[in-house]
Amino acid sequence: MRDTLGREITYLRISLTDRCNLRCVYCMPPEGVNKREHREILSLEEMEEIAREAAALGVRKIRLTGGEPLVRRGMLSLCRRLRDIPQLEELTLTTNGVLLPGMAAALKAAGVDRVNISLDTLDPEKYRCVTRTGTLEDTLAGIWAAGEAGLTPLKLNCVLIGGFNDDEIPALAALTAREPLEVRFIELMPIGGAAPFGPEAYLPCEAVLERLPELEPLGETGGVAERFRLPGAVGTVGLIRPLSGCFCGRCDRIRLTADGCLKPCLHSREEIPIRGLHGADLRRALGRAILHKPERHGELSAQVRSEAARDMNQIGG
Ligand code: SAM
Ligand code: SF4
Repeated sequence: MRDTLGREITYLRISLTDRCNLRCVYCMPPEGVNKREHREILSLEEMEEIAREAAALGVRKIRLTGGEPLVRRGMLSLCRRLRDIPQLEELTLTTNGVLLPGMAAALKAAGVDRVNISLDTLDPEKYRCVTRTGTLEDTLAGIWAAGEAGLTPLKLNCVLIGGFNDDEIPALAALTAREPLEVRFIELMPIGGAAPFGPEAYLPCEAVLERLPELEPLGETGGVAERFRLPGAVGTVGLIRPLSGCFCGRCDRIRLTADGCLKPCLHSREEIPIRGLHGADLRRALGRAILHKPERHGELSAQVRSEAARDMNQIGG
């Protein structure tokens, strides 16, 4: 289905839970989230029903996210049920990777095609600092397990934070030299825990091109990322510029929060509650969300924070 601007909406991102086993400084408060009652969160059956109706409207790709999607109990059975949706072409998930060593093979068997794993630094102390509670070794083990299980091609999401990991741009990009993966540098967005960061933290992706002038543009986009390659590298480097660029014109997605609201745009306050709707009513509500996607999000900068009324762990990125 196309929106009023002619953009074809083929991609649904589902946040399985607000909860997480890490506490990244730019995403969540240190104390985590208030534990919600089970009944406040969509059941896995409700998520499946919404996904089926979305597929009937043209959704071909679903990404599971969070919070941390792997902490949601029963998520493997949801994956299996989503995989049964005939129109679905791709099932992916975004994870911090910590639980992948024990789950990667089961995820592949349940029908997940590939995963994006968040990795902002290669330094164990900095990893602990940015995630507040995490251990770099666990995520590296998760990346390895995902590769072994065939959840590939892997994408590693790295949020650029000025004064924190800009010195690691060459080392992170060098991960693509011998492995067929994509390292994606993402501009920090003024939302969630990042909203009060100082202007120096909001580093534009241009910094990657300045540090690595040898990056060759591939002239193609991978969804919202612009793609590059280091000379002779097997993998690719992606740049995602929500602040210094604008990819709203090619936005193809809608989002579903764990408590049952559709978000036509990540950075808009607008939400459409769809919990309790079924059949034609549900499809109509999904259709409305698609049709009324805003043309673009408002300004985002170190000074102007996102208009989204939720933190990032409640939307899923
Ligand atoms: N827990 C999973 C993970 O970390 O990959 C999935 C959920 S997380 C909210 C999804 C993505 O959003 C991660 O890659 C994370 O780094 C990114 N993210 C969170 N807060 C952000 C912010 N303020 N600016 C840019 N990216 C952010
Ligand atoms: Fe958790 Fe992902 Fe947010 Fe980090 S970015 S706190 S891993 S939801």
